[in-house]
Amino acid sequence: MKREVCGWTGRILKVDLSLGSIEDIDTMEYAEGFLGGRGIATRLYWECVAPETGALDPENALILMTGPLGATGAQGASRFEVVGKSPMLLPEGFCYGNLGGYFGPALKQAGYDGVMVTGRAAESCYLLIQDGRAEIRDAAHLWGLGTYAVRDRLKADHGRRAHFVTTGPAGENLVRTAALITDHEGSATGGFGAVLGSKNLKAVVALGSGRPRVADPKALTELNRLTIRLSKRGTLRMPLPKDQMRYVGRASCYQCGLDCLRGAFRTASGKEVVRKCHSMVFYMPWVAMRPGEKIDTAVDATKICNDLGLCTMEMDNVMGWLARAWEAGDLSAEEAGLNIGEIGSRAFFERLTEMITRREGLGDVLAEGLLRTGERLGERATRHFTEDVSGVGLGSSYSPREYVINALLYALEPRQPIAMLHEVSYLIARWLLHRIKPELSPTTAEVFRAAATKFWGNDKAWDMTTYEGKAEAAMRIQDRTYMKDSLVLCDCAWPIMDSFNTPDHVGDPNLEARIFSAVTGLESDEEGLRAYGERNFNLQRAVLLREGWKPLEGDEPASFNFPEPILHDLLNPRLIVPGPTEEPVSVKGNVLDREKYKEMRAEYYELRGWDRETGLQTAETLNRLGLGDVAEALKKRSLVR
Ligand code: SF4
Repeated sequence: MKREVCGWTGRILKVDLSLGSIEDIDTMEYAEGFLGGRGIATRLYWECVAPETGALDPENALILMTGPLGATGAQGASRFEVVGKSPMLLPEGFCYGNLGGYFGPALKQAGYDGVMVTGRAAESCYLLIQDGRAEIRDAAHLWGLGTYAVRDRLKADHGRRAHFVTTGPAGENLVRTAALITDHEGSATGGFGAVLGSKNLKAVVALGSGRPRVADPKALTELNRLTIRLSKRGTLRMPLPKDQMRYVGRASCYQCGLDCLRGAFRTASGKEVVRKCHSMVFYMPWVAMRPGEKIDTAVDATKICNDLGLCTMEMDNVMGWLARAWEAGDLSAEEAGLNIGEIGSRAFFERLTEMITRREGLGDVLAEGLLRTGERLGERATRHFTEDVSGVGLGSSYSPREYVINALLYALEPRQPIAMLHEVSYLIARWLLHRIKPELSPTTAEVFRAAATKFWGNDKAWDMTTYEGKAEAAMRIQDRTYMKDSLVLCDCAWPIMDSFNTPDHVGDPNLEARIFSAVTGLESDEEGLRAYGERNFNLQRAVLLREGWKPLEGDEPASFNFPEPILHDLLNPRLIVPGPTEEPVSVKGNVLDREKYKEMRAEYYELRGWDRETGLQTAETLNRLGLGDVAEALKKRSLVR
């Protein structure tokens, strides 16, 4: 008898736009091995995207994948993953992202757990997924529109319950850094907007009235209450000039009752917007340097990027580079086609973003991404790159020179691994908050130590001034993040490591497994879910190796971490970390020690069951993880021990 499927709809949509074909994939064939979200998407990528495929080739796959907890009411479970080959990376390569809002749950309500799109449509189109049926539709009326106009048209045509992913004209024009955008202000970097554009696909729209079954609804309700109670632990907010802009309330993703960085904000002039994280503040420093310029300009800069489908992190780097190159005389106003002295104004930002989106003048060069701009213009460009100019994401935030664990987290990923970095930095931020206002955070030095020991698996991991215990901590954080990105749970809320509402103020690392069991009816525990994380992490490692990633030389954080002392951190201005005693320690002026880093990395390889000398995975480990076919494929390329 076929087992009742809970948590899942049971189907992944497979669309080939070149052929116009639409098929179903059985979710359960993948869920048992790879859990969901990022795990399943990475497995599909492994099977379908050959290493030599270009990011903008029709053969590249754009994979949108939810997890077993999405649309069930589980808290902080409304996000979804995107996986594909990224045109933003240099060289192009496997990449991933994570988006919030309503699209993920809407996809499940429409009857699908995920969508994999390959091919290229002859004419612009959009994909409509409604109540178990999918249809490729003409998008002539949407092509060329900004994402807000797309929203208005789609909602007018399909109703308020229609949710979507799309990109703006930047994606259509194959700007390599173009973002994927959802309704409710969700976005993902990585250049996936250009992948959408390369397929002549303007949007994927989902709506429906279905709902995945929950195995034990009563238990889930109890666990949701518990999650909300435990998540009271000191809400972190972006630093804002309070006289100009204030947090006014939640702007939550679908059915999420957890407090987080995402919120509604109001400016002094009364403008109200939904914003989150870096994208909210990236233009503020430039605006602040122009007397008389209102903060509304910075708020609108985010909207302009979202509308055109541009990545705010890339724009942040582009503006810094333009200003430095111009001041040094390496870029003239004529060559730039811009009055760079007006940076910080609305007119400047509108002009710059238009140039990149329409590929006009220098904008055509910048549309290839800042890294490729460096290749094209050479030394006069690259000497003005800061530490933040990396492939995907900001390259220096949550620096390894400040938090040693992060050296390994950066080193093993093709992009800034923001969800992992948050696990370290959020706990430290709440420890900092407790030092300033104890009533706002439960995280004393003692709680920090206990939580770090419990969640990072090593009683030396909490002393942030040493390299001891960090290899194991990094491995645990990676495994948990891959598990989380597969369930899919939001990194703004998970893991709950500390809380006002437990006796010792430390969280329960088993909570995710209890929720998973309540939803799916499958018994699991912390170690059971961690095994999925470990498998999915190893699978991604195999994907990267197959695409040319070099172990050892590739497994390093950015080189500036070794010689350049750390002097600034906007979010931790005094650069203090928990040290061996109750007293905080300043790491100002710290560098990463190369020899100690190498020792830590060798220890890490060994803990992973990889070859300590070369960093290659072993066939034994891959077989243990049920990845025997992956081991065989790597063996043919001499990429396994
Ligand atoms: S915690 Fe915040 S960002 Fe995460 S799912 Fe909930 S509302 Fe969305």
